Amino acid sequence: MLTDDEYDYLFKLVLIGDSGVGKSNILSRFTTNEFNLESKSTIGVEFATKNVSIGNMFTVWLFPDGNTVKCQIWDTSGQERYRAITGAYYRGAVGALLVYDITRPTSFQNVSHWLKELRDHADEKIVIMLVGNKLDLSETSRAVPTEEGGALAETQGFLFMETSALDATNVDNAFATIFDEIYKIIP
Ligand code: GDP
Ligand code: MG
Repeated sequence: MLTDDEYDYLFKLVLIGDSGVGKSNILSRFTTNEFNLESKSTIGVEFATKNVSIGNMFTVWLFPDGNTVKCQIWDTSGQERYRAITGAYYRGAVGALLVYDITRPTSFQNVSHWLKELRDHADEKIVIMLVGNKLDLSETSRAVPTEEGGALAETQGFLFMETSALDATNVDNAFATIFDEIYKIIP
């Protein structure tokens, strides 16, 4: 049995995408099974103290074959609003969840901006999953068809999933899928 500080692999994963797409809620749904209907009002404060406010989420993952992977998932503290994410955010990341909001076409158009960020700052072998969030609003206000997200992911060679942080659909599945893919390509 391994203790908390012993693990076979450490995976750093980053959450990127436009402000308001649901990154923080995807993370809180995954790590603590929590969801917040209101965006956090402490964003300005977190932005000012970003040195200590990012990179503090840890999850221990036990793979079927018994290897323990510690996953370090970095969430922005609102820096994405000002496009002020720095290279340190991406450094060492082996995976990225690039999130858009299926009800907000601009967040899908801006995927290209986030891809450029990844190309400029992240390791070229980083595993990318395109995530269309707010699937619970699909019936009432979907603006980006599943096929469009899927087609973009396919042409770029990304994983793809639609999620809802609100009702938890596919959140665990998204993380499990990207971790699995990262694990497969570990040299
Ligand atoms: P971030 O800026 O990307 O971190 O986005 P947040 O996690 O702060 O979420 C922005 C807003 O969208 C908040 O009001 C959330 O309650 C809402 N939200 C996040 N995920 C979902 C979702 O899956 N469904 C719905 N309906 N709302 C969501
Ligand atoms: Mg956030």
